[in-house]
Amino acid sequence: MNNPTMFQFFHWYYPDDGNLWNHCKEQAERLSKLGISHIWLPPAYKSARGTWEPGYAVYDLFDLGEFDQQGTVRTRHGTKEQYIDCINGLHQHNIQAIADIVLNHKHGGDETEKMGVREVNTENRKEMADEVVEIEAHTRFTFPGRKGKYSDYVWDKESFTGVSEMMDNRERIFLIQHNMGDNWDQMLDDEMGNFDYLMGADIDFRNPFVRDEMKKWGEWYIENTNIDGFRLDAVKHINYRFFQEWLYHMKEHFKKDFFCVSEYWSSKKDAIISYCNALGKQSLMYDVPLHFNFFDAGHKKRDFDMRSIFDDTVLKELPENSFTFVDNHDSQPGQSLESYVDFWFQPLAYSLILLRVKGFPCVFYPHLYGAKYDLEQGEEKYPIEIVPVPGLEYMLLVRQWFAYGDEYDYFDHSNTVGWVRKGIDEKELSGCAVLLSNGDEGHKDMELGDRFAGKTLVDVTGNRQEKITTDEHGKATFVVNGESVSIWILEEAANRIHQQLGY
Ligand code: CA
Repeated sequence: MNNPTMFQFFHWYYPDDGNLWNHCKEQAERLSKLGISHIWLPPAYKSARGTWEPGYAVYDLFDLGEFDQQGTVRTRHGTKEQYIDCINGLHQHNIQAIADIVLNHKHGGDETEKMGVREVNTENRKEMADEVVEIEAHTRFTFPGRKGKYSDYVWDKESFTGVSEMMDNRERIFLIQHNMGDNWDQMLDDEMGNFDYLMGADIDFRNPFVRDEMKKWGEWYIENTNIDGFRLDAVKHINYRFFQEWLYHMKEHFKKDFFCVSEYWSSKKDAIISYCNALGKQSLMYDVPLHFNFFDAGHKKRDFDMRSIFDDTVLKELPENSFTFVDNHDSQPGQSLESYVDFWFQPLAYSLILLRVKGFPCVFYPHLYGAKYDLEQGEEKYPIEIVPVPGLEYMLLVRQWFAYGDEYDYFDHSNTVGWVRKGIDEKELSGCAVLLSNGDEGHKDMELGDRFAGKTLVDVTGNRQEKITTDEHGKATFVVNGESVSIWILEEAANRIHQQLGY
C-alpha cells in the first residue's frame, strides 16, 4: 500500500468558466503519477444566484448543473454530465472522488412566507428578544426549474431554525418560532453562545422530514455520481446526532465504508476531538490547530520554537483521525477565515505533513498550479498571485515511494529540527532524512540504521548540492539552509524522481 494523499482541486477564486470538472479530469493522470489517491471536489450543486462563489451558498442539492435555475443550467464548475465524467476519469486512474457535502444551510428561497421570530444577539445567539414579531423571509424552496424531478419535497419554514436579513445596514439573525421547536439545536461547543446558525436559512435537523429527505438525497447522489467519500462542510454548526445517523444510513444502504473527513473550524483541539468522539470516530477531522501553528511559525520566523510545532493539535492527541493541510479555500488571501501560511514556511509545512508517519495530508490546488486573482474592495482592485510551493512535486514523490518505515525524531533545537524514516523492504530505496530550519543554516547528526550503512545521499529538493555519505550505522551529519528544508534520500532514489518529473 502506498501512502494516501488528498488533493483539494479548487480554491475560492478558481475562475467561473464552467471548466473545472473537465480540467480535473484532464489532470487525473498527472496527479495519479504524483501519488494523489483522493481528490476533494468542490460542491457540485446549484448555488443561489448562479455561479458567483464555489458552491457553498447551496440552493438545490438535486441540481448538479442540469436544470435552468438561479439563472443558469451549469454550476460554476460545469454540468452534471461533466461532473460524472470527471469522477469516472478519476476512477480510471485509481483516484477516489471525495464530494463536498454542504448540508447546514440553504440560500435563494423561491418564495417568501410569514413567520413568527425572535431576534437574537449576533454575537451571542443565546440572548434573544422576549417578544415574538412577524417577518417575511425567503424560506420556501419549490425548485420550479426542476419541477419535482428526483424529489418533490418542498422546503418551508418548518425545515429551518433561523434566517438572517440585512436591515439598517447590518446583518440581523432571527430564530424561527414554529411547531418543530422554538430554539436553536444543541451544539457541543458554546462559541457564539450557540453556533447552530452560520448563514442563509439554517436547516433544522430535528425535523424528521428533513432527515428523511437528506438520506434520500444521499442515496440519489451516490447512485448517480459514484463518489467514494464525503467532506462534511461546517459540522460545527450541525448537531452530531444527525451525521451519526446519516453516515450510518449510507454505510448500511450501500454496504460500504465511505471515506469521510469533517470540517470543524476551530483553533481548539478539544472541541474538534469531542465532535470526532461523538461521531464514533467515523470521520477524519481537519487539523485546524496544526494549520494555525504553521501560520504562527510563518509569522514569528526564528522566534517560533520548532519543537512546539505539533503542540495542541489533533495530530498529537488523536493522530489516526488527523487530516492535515497547510491552507485551503477558507484560509487563502481574501477569505473570511484568512490565515494564510507565509510563503517561505510552506515547503517546511508540507514536509511536516507529507513525510511523517502520522496524519492524512491534503495538498491545496494553488500550491501546485499557482493562482492569480483580484480582490475587490469597493472601487479598488488588489491583484493577488499565489506561486507554486517550491519542491512540492519532489515531496509528493518522496511520500509516494520513499517515506516509509519507522520514524525517529530529532526535535532537539528551537530552530533546526529533523527526523528520519528508516525504510521498509517492500519499498525499494525507501527511507529518508528530513532537516528543516526556521533560523540560520543548520546541521544535525541523524541515524538511518544499518540498511543505510555506507550509502550516498543527496538532497532531492536541490536546496543543498553536496553529497553525504553515511557511516557503518547509517549515520551522518545532515545539513539545511536557513529558512529552508532539505530532504536527503539515496542518490538512486533521487534519480528516479528526476526521471519521473523530467527535470
Ligand atoms: Ca445549523
